[in-house]
Amino acid sequence: VEPILMDPKECVDEALELVKTMSRSRNVVFEVDLPDALPRIRIAPAHLVQVLLNLLMNAVDAMGEQGGRVYLGWMDGVLEIRDSGPGIPEDLRHRIFDPFFTTKEPGKGTGLGLAISAKLMGSMGGSLILGPSDEGARFLVKLPEHAP
Ligand code: ADP
Ligand code: MG
Repeated sequence: VEPILMDPKECVDEALELVKTMSRSRNVVFEVDLPDALPRIRIAPAHLVQVLLNLLMNAVDAMGEQGGRVYLGWMDGVLEIRDSGPGIPEDLRHRIFDPFFTTKEPGKGTGLGLAISAKLMGSMGGSLILGPSDEGARFLVKLPEHAP
């Protein structure tokens, strides 16, 4: 995939659109607090959309039947995705990026989403980490440095 110079906000908008459609029947409120435009960076947009979609769908899945809130924000080149779900137990935190690690029922999850997402961010020159949180899960997507 050829990387192109673009505003990553376009990827955020596309991922949000998709996740809203996929979670229409769920009680999920998306709170988006982003500037209208972000600094342009060199990325493969399909890859960033895939990463964001993984994180957003995980958040929706984690909140289950009762639903909740998904928050998406941006600061200093880092996208933050957090949810009001149960969060990730301390003893599982170091395993969630392992390929095939899943707590979902058989057939509901492959356990590859986070492993692939972390790889894709790394190959773009960014990173994906699980951040500290008071409530729910909180992922930080560090975007690559912006183009000179
Ligand atoms: P999958 O979604 O197929 O299970 P992932 O790699 O995307 O695989 O996620 C691995 C595991 O990490 C999930 O099964 C779940 O246990 C945990 N996880 C990921 N995101 C969240 C979240 N937002 N809230 C709670 N647990 C999460
Ligand atoms: Mg997943």
